Amino acid sequence: MAPQNKPRNLIHLSGNTYLLRGSPVTIVYNYKETVYIIDPGHGSKRSKQLRQALSDLGAERVVAIITHYHSDHLSITGKINPSKVVSSRQDRLCIEDPRLRILVTFGYPIPPGHPSLPFDAPGVNVTGAIEPGEEIEGILETIPLPGHTPGQIGIVTPDSVLYLADSAFGTRVLENYYIPYHLDYDTALRTLYKIRDEYAGEYSRVVFGHGPLVSREEALGIIEENISHHEKVKEEILETAPGHSVEETVIEVLKKAGKTPTLQLVLLASGSARSLIASEYDLSLGVDRIVAREA
Ligand SMILES: [Zn+2]
Repeated sequence: MAPQNKPRNLIHLSGNTYLLRGSPVTIVYNYKETVYIIDPGHGSKRSKQLRQALSDLGAERVVAIITHYHSDHLSITGKINPSKVVSSRQDRLCIEDPRLRILVTFGYPIPPGHPSLPFDAPGVNVTGAIEPGEEIEGILETIPLPGHTPGQIGIVTPDSVLYLADSAFGTRVLENYYIPYHLDYDTALRTLYKIRDEYAGEYSRVVFGHGPLVSREEALGIIEENISHHEKVKEEILETAPGHSVEETVIEVLKKAGKTPTLQLVLLASGSARSLIASEYDLSLGVDRIVAREA
């Protein structure tokens, strides 16, 4: 094993856990000669920074862990030459197939690389699929955080750092997007309550995929803020939905919140709105609540 230097570009969180700033952030954990890279991220600058950090840590083996299938979290995975790529079984197919990823995320078969897509990322071969909740190599814990995607996982390092991926967002992200993106909004909301009531208090550090790096106490405040924001937006969508198409609904809600409904915002928000309308069916309220107010 090469001598270990202070890794360039990384912020030391605790013990052997580090963070590379960005949106999303990347979490780095080193154990003996293996370095675990959680959500490698996107951009050529990022892959250079990670390769430098890996060399400083004397990595002989790299394991990439992808918390969920969104392109901004996995784009440069191939550039860090991992000998193993871990994801949840549920999210695996969308990590491996970019077309399926786009279709599931947006509901439209937009060709990969199209300018209306916020990110473009190749398929990544998953070689170590796990069930959310299973440990990774006996070193890292995973916790199920479904909703944003079906199989999103959170990661806990042995230094008591909890990485929440996209199950909760920083205040600025909530303000900018207004309607948070979740493939299954109600499940994501239940996950948020679970994070508040069961997970977040257990660990000494809580880190968001897109958000500020803050103390645990401040992170708990941001989680609370996520819950009230998500509840409010849910109510607004369900109030607006009767008599409107999904896209009309989100445009209306975004405009009322003072947001310009750009194509990208509408594409993302429509996923959340569609899933909320589907949840109404789940609750056996049937179409009544959605359609009856049309008259
Ligand atoms: Zn995401």
